[in-house]
Amino acid sequence: MSYILETKGLTKIYGSKAAVKEVNMHIPEGQIYGLIGPNGAGKTTIMRMISGLATPTRGDYSLFGKTGAERGRLLSQVGVLIEAPGLYPKFSAQENLKIKCIALGVDWRREVPELLRLVGLEGVDPRKAAGAFSLGMRQRLGIALALVGEPKMLVLDEPINGLDPEGIKEMREIFVRMREEKGIAILISSHILEELDKVADCYGVINEGTLLDEFSAEQLHLRSGKYVKIRAEETDRALEVLERMNISGQKMEERDCIRVTGHTDRTAEMAKALVTAGVALQEIYVHNMSLEDYYLSMTKGGHHD
Ligand code: ATP
Repeated sequence: MSYILETKGLTKIYGSKAAVKEVNMHIPEGQIYGLIGPNGAGKTTIMRMISGLATPTRGDYSLFGKTGAERGRLLSQVGVLIEAPGLYPKFSAQENLKIKCIALGVDWRREVPELLRLVGLEGVDPRKAAGAFSLGMRQRLGIALALVGEPKMLVLDEPINGLDPEGIKEMREIFVRMREEKGIAILISSHILEELDKVADCYGVINEGTLLDEFSAEQLHLRSGKYVKIRAEETDRALEVLERMNISGQKMEERDCIRVTGHTDRTAEMAKALVTAGVALQEIYVHNMSLEDYYLSMTKGGHHD
């Protein structure tokens, strides 16, 4: 697989504290990479280093396979939105974009309408000052600004933080549109795991400066350990019924619940047998471990194979 960005032993030390430790990260071309981790894990610090905004204490990274001066020239192909977008509050979305286009020598007449469309701001009043925008609109304008100059990769630090559910959904659509229409690779950091679960193609999990693991969405689903969850009033009787079907289940920590690992294809059969045996069945379904569950199991229990 070819990577648009690869880090090797990337480390950043502030004073005596390592904010990022020996990180080896791989961002494939044209994919959405979700960098997940709690506050203070080191996400912003990694993003600042790979965008050229901070110098690594140790280690290195390559962009499009290049390091050193060659990489420096390629940094213009990385669009960045870290922390609040740098907007001119008195100017409109159109004017903000026009200024950046002119600064980068881009044809603003062609680019500005296209950028507004990509981030869903095409209908915004051209007289409205960016300072009066909602948080969601400001974030979208920030992304449009990061897209000036047709970058191959976007680095977005917590772009959905603080948005309402509608705003999060719109942002998700924008990410997918950028990947599908422009083939842009996007590195997104977030602690809202369920939101990344819906868009990311691959993930890196970081905790206390250390990248614990990287995995694709496919691997996540393979590793996620599907199981059948049964909620019934009399769990002992339910377990007996399952045993007669040669299915072994375990009581879960959650009261009145049983977990059956495997046998997901026999869920309907189990439901029928339980009901026939007179067990008061409240629910039975195939549980898919979510990204949240997986992440919690990793950050609490260490590395997953
Ligand atoms: P958040 O989601 O809260 O932004 P994060 O995962 O992005 O968290 P970082 O902002 O990268 O984490 O911070 C990682 C660690 O490095 C934290 O302990 C932070 O206090 C420390 N840190 C970050 N920047 C600096 C700095 N300029 N000087 C000193 N320490 C810093």
